Amino acid sequence: MNDNNFAGNSKKAIDFLGNEWTYDCMGCSITRGEIKIPGGIIYEGNYTILASDPEIPIPGFLIVNIKRHINSFSELSKEERNEVGNVITYAEKALKELNIVNEVTLVQEERSKHLHIWIFPNYNGMTKKFGKGITYLREISEYAQRTVNDEKIKEVLDVSQKVRKYFEEHNINE
Ligand SMILES: [Zn+2]
Repeated sequence: MNDNNFAGNSKKAIDFLGNEWTYDCMGCSITRGEIKIPGGIIYEGNYTILASDPEIPIPGFLIVNIKRHINSFSELSKEERNEVGNVITYAEKALKELNIVNEVTLVQEERSKHLHIWIFPNYNGMTKKFGKGITYLREISEYAQRTVNDEKIKEVLDVSQKVRKYFEEHNINE
């Protein structure tokens, strides 16, 4: 995985089901529904889309994609800000209350041209194997891609389904 791919700045991606996608901007393509993310959209609000990361098969690794083509929190409107905050809050609550993971790492890089936030689950097994902290997320991601199998894919899709149900059952604006 090259560094541009990691920041979401590449022009093509192969998702973990093996589908190849080409685009000008991945975030805009997700907004327009041109990329069918494995596991589907978990939550779609007025300004954001929540889904599993399409390229890295880790259960509960979620992406909050801002619909508008901007690359910084500093450009968000008040309404967008509110929704982003609520989506992140409820995504984290879902992962914890559904006992998927007890701790997450949030990542947002302005070097990526389209604003998205990673909600990266910190699994004990991965922490033991690679170490804890932001430095290791890339290694953990590469390991997940290298060792993916049908069972793992099923687990990722199951978690997407469970988090989607959680969002259906909760009003995130309350
Ligand atoms: Zn974009």
